[in-house]
Amino acid sequence: KKVADRYLKREVLGEGTYGVVYKAIDTKTGQTVAIKKIRLGKQKEGVNFTALREIKLLKELKDPNIIELIDAFPHKGNLHLVFEFMETDLEAVIRDRNIVLSLSDIKSYLQMTLKGLAFCHKKWVLHRDMKPNNLLIGSRGQLKLADFGLARIFGSPDRRFTHQVFARWYRAPELLFGAKAYGPAVDVWAAACIFAELLLRRPFLQVNLDYRGYYFLRQGNSDIDQLGKIFAAFGTPKPSQWPDIKYLPDYVEYQYVPGQPLRQLFPMASDDALDLLSKMFTYDPKARISALQALEHRYFSSGPPPTEPALLPRPP
Ligand code: ADP
Repeated sequence: KKVADRYLKREVLGEGTYGVVYKAIDTKTGQTVAIKKIRLGKQKEGVNFTALREIKLLKELKDPNIIELIDAFPHKGNLHLVFEFMETDLEAVIRDRNIVLSLSDIKSYLQMTLKGLAFCHKKWVLHRDMKPNNLLIGSRGQLKLADFGLARIFGSPDRRFTHQVFARWYRAPELLFGAKAYGPAVDVWAAACIFAELLLRRPFLQVNLDYRGYYFLRQGNSDIDQLGKIFAAFGTPKPSQWPDIKYLPDYVEYQYVPGQPLRQLFPMASDDALDLLSKMFTYDPKARISALQALEHRYFSSGPPPTEPALLPRPP
């Protein structure tokens, strides 16, 4: 069946935050694509102008480390976003126990992530929902950030009712304290969590809760639980480390908790890796390293060099 006279629908790839994702063939180019069907819900009249303008901006966001938005059109009351098709994602790589990630492989994945971020931040676009399953991997091993800007256009979905609660592990402390005005630093924090996850091969700041029941009962406290996890790792921020913390909407006074040395948390990482990690995990978003500065960090110029994308290990 053809959609919009151009795309031949194939199988369903999965159900995402905003709706179903299909595999399809673009008859115009012969290219395999992924079509994200976004339910418009209450806005029956269609997408509002702001959303359309934002989508137009996303179409112009072209970079080797950003997934390309090929086309966008309404069809039968749903908005369809057409993206280049990607083979797998970073979450599948991290979870695959048969894959060994060398320090060069980790450097390569982090470098591609930061390149995509730096490009978008330069254009004043934030991702806001960085997590390993949003980092898609193409047939030649190239990593591309997906779902850029969608959180802003379509709003953050109600996380209580989806598996998306996991994304809380990647949330920056300023967001957990309810910051309404935040910037690209939130994506850098999430990238740090992903860097840590590549080193550990499991989510780093994972709150160990039974999410099936716990979040329904204590949704209001889960941000606090996440902050507790961050404090337990890095120690509570001293006022001198983050002077503006007290102005954040959900700021509450907290008891002093000591942190753990990064070296102890990541025994296998190099000194350069730990130095970059600590700069990305800086509490004060104003003092946190930017994606562009991170790319210029010594970690990327000192050995071992990042692996060529085509040579990166991937699931079968
Ligand atoms: P989520 O909102 O949970 O991040 P998505 O809506 O991005 O999920 O995607 C849902 C499913 O569709 C996922 O399983 C993902 O693997 C697949 N998918 C999304 N985008 C692409 C793409 N460009 N190429 C191939 N598969 C994709």
